[in-house]
This record gives sequence, structure tokens and C-alpha cells, in this order.
Amino acid sequence: MKVLVVEDEKRIASFVRKGLEEQGFAVDVCGDGIEGLHMAVTQTYDALVLDIMLPGRDGLSVLRELREQNHGVPVILLTARTLLNEKLEGLNLGADDYLTKPFYVEELVARLHAVIRRASGERVTVLQVGELRLNLITREATVGGQRVELTAREFNLLEFLMRSPGRVVTRTQILEHVWNYYFDPATNIVDVYIQRLRKKLSPDAVDAVIETVRGVGYRIRESQAPES
Ligand code: CA
Repeated sequence: MKVLVVEDEKRIASFVRKGLEEQGFAVDVCGDGIEGLHMAVTQTYDALVLDIMLPGRDGLSVLRELREQNHGVPVILLTARTLLNEKLEGLNLGADDYLTKPFYVEELVARLHAVIRRASGERVTVLQVGELRLNLITREATVGGQRVELTAREFNLLEFLMRSPGRVVTRTQILEHVWNYYFDPATNIVDVYIQRLRKKLSPDAVDAVIETVRGVGYRIRESQAPES
């Protein structure tokens, strides 16, 4: 998931970036309202985190312009004040949620997942392939009911594979979706993570297997029950 953070306070921007990246989000940061609006309309984001007090153009005005252009990207507003008017105005303009500074990055992460899920109209909250289940709300992975501890990145990688079971996804697609890398397809980071996932999912215990499709990428599928 890719998020644009429009925030001019460098300390906050960098703590938000770090916190979101640790949770597996791909993050772009911009410190100016005009540039932020430009990025929001010319690139594709799953959500915006938009500060209200910004140089160039304030967050409320950026939001108003986005909605006037019928741009439906989910927006979470950041406000330094506890001014009721500002929050109400933001929600009236089409903000999906807001957070008052200071906030915990965990809170922002939870709200981002919520607004992105809502925006996608997604009813699916659990993905299942064989014995393997991912709960997209609690971010828990289980194999045959047993909890498996995954890092945020491992979870996102597995989610990406499980969203299209049986279909081959290329390393490049994985890099773009899970890492936000548009370069250096020679990197072996995807393969390293796949190996880790396979280890954690313990191939003896799971009937969903991550197959390597040589020269192309990976695919997850249910293994066939052995003939008896
Ligand atoms: Ca600010």
C-alpha cells in the first residue's frame, strides 16, 4: 500500500515515514501543499496523510480541490489544534478521518488500514488458501489455526500472493507492490523474503505452497492431496 504524507514539519514527517515503512507501507513525503496536491493527482496512492497547516496551500484547501476534482483517495487529516471547527470543516470537505497531534504512529496505521479498506469497498476480511489464513483486520496469520508470527513486510508479501491464488506474480510486480521499488530488478530481496516465508509457514504443515516459477516469479496455490 502506497501512502503520500504531506507534512512540512520534518521531525513529524520523518517519524511518520519511518513508522509507516516499518509497517510495510510504501511512503512518499512532501512538505508543501501545492506540490502535495500535484503528487496526489498525478500519482496513484492508496491514501493521503494531510497536515492542515502547510506552506503553499493549506491541507483543507488541498482536500477541497481533490474532492472538487472528484478524486476519491482516502484522506486522513493531521491537525495540531483541537479546534472543533477545523475538524468539522475537514470532515465536511470529505476527509475520511483525522488525527490530532501528537499521535501514536500505531494509531495512524490502524486508521489507514480502516480507511483504505472502506474505500476499496472491501468486504473480504480473511484470505484463505488451504490451511493458511490471513486476517486482514487483525493482521494475523494462522496455519491450521496456529498463529504464525510475520513481520509487516512478510505479511504484505503473503497477502499479495494470496490475493491471486494460482496466478504467477513476477518479482517486479512484487517489488512494486510490496516494496515500492521501480528499479533494480536484479535485487534478490524478494527471493530472500520468499525463503523466510516458506520457512515460517513450515512446508510440512501447510498445504498452501509458494511455488517458484523459474525465470518468472512466484505463485501460491493449494497443493493437491496425495493420491491414495
Ligand atoms: Ca504543518
